[in-house]
Amino acid sequence: MVECPECGAEFDAGAVEVGEIIVCPDCGVDLEVLTVDPVTVGQAPEEGEDWGE
Ligand SMILES: [Zn+2]
Repeated sequence: MVECPECGAEFDAGAVEVGEIIVCPDCGVDLEVLTVDPVTVGQAPEEGEDWGE
């Protein structure tokens, strides 16, 4: 189980890889997978001015 650092919800991330971005099913925040076994996540850097376009 993964605990969302944003809202504290716990959910099953399933099979993920380090660096993968998952979305909290509770609050919808983007979370970056930091480690696996066990899976821990941190808030993904917000997509902003330096990305895209
Ligand atoms: Zn959340």
